[in-house]
Amino acid sequence: MIKVFIRFYEELNDFIRADWRKQQIERQLRHHTTTKDLIESFGVPHTEVDLILVNGVSVNFAHRVADGDLISVYPVFESFDISEVTRLQERPLRDLRFIADCHLGKLAGKMRLLGFDVEYRKDIGDDELAAAVLNDRRVLLSRDRRLLMRRIIDRGYLVRSQNPDEQIAEVIKRFDLGRQLKPFTRCAHCNGILERVEKAAVLHLLEPKTKLYFEDFFQCQSCRQVYWQGSHLNAIKEFIKKFTDGT
Ligand SMILES: [Zn+2]
Repeated sequence: MIKVFIRFYEELNDFIRADWRKQQIERQLRHHTTTKDLIESFGVPHTEVDLILVNGVSVNFAHRVADGDLISVYPVFESFDISEVTRLQERPLRDLRFIADCHLGKLAGKMRLLGFDVEYRKDIGDDELAAAVLNDRRVLLSRDRRLLMRRIIDRGYLVRSQNPDEQIAEVIKRFDLGRQLKPFTRCAHCNGILERVEKAAVLHLLEPKTKLYFEDFFQCQSCRQVYWQGSHLNAIKEFIKKFTDGT
């Protein structure tokens, strides 16, 4: 038997039992387990962890713990210069691409309206989601903690809220996407690319009032859905303002 001491910091405490939160937890182990397995035994998916210190030294998920180890586990920091240590989650890339699990259709649609590449299908299974993370280098958005604990899933985020507006705020904050919003570039229905089209080219697809009041149109290059800059765009602009104010 070996004995280790572990403490979870900041919002990682959301995942663990109330009486373990924000304090040092003593744990007896039969084997020299990895930090990944130890951390996940408390219910914290590895995708939420960005820094592990063992006796003050940063380690990765494959590190095997030893008797008497003092382990500190930190979430993804928003803006904190810790360049001297091994951060375990990828920094936001220029073109971050996502895949949403079957419960997050509304979030996927809203993210697409802001220009993000989000794959989503109502009937997608867990194995397909995992394959998209591995092969297509997508970030998995999920409300399923077990799914995010799969070893193969190295990029993901556990969506906390059940409200789509709060969910999108969470994702933008976590991946620091506030300056990468490109509204009206992607189709909310199919994730296809939108292109500006002449009104005359889509006139036959428009309702009479739309024909009358709007001049700027976009069309999805995949499913041919037509979008126009009207009240819809204003709602998106308001929404975006919430994320870009004060940044
Ligand atoms: Zn489309």
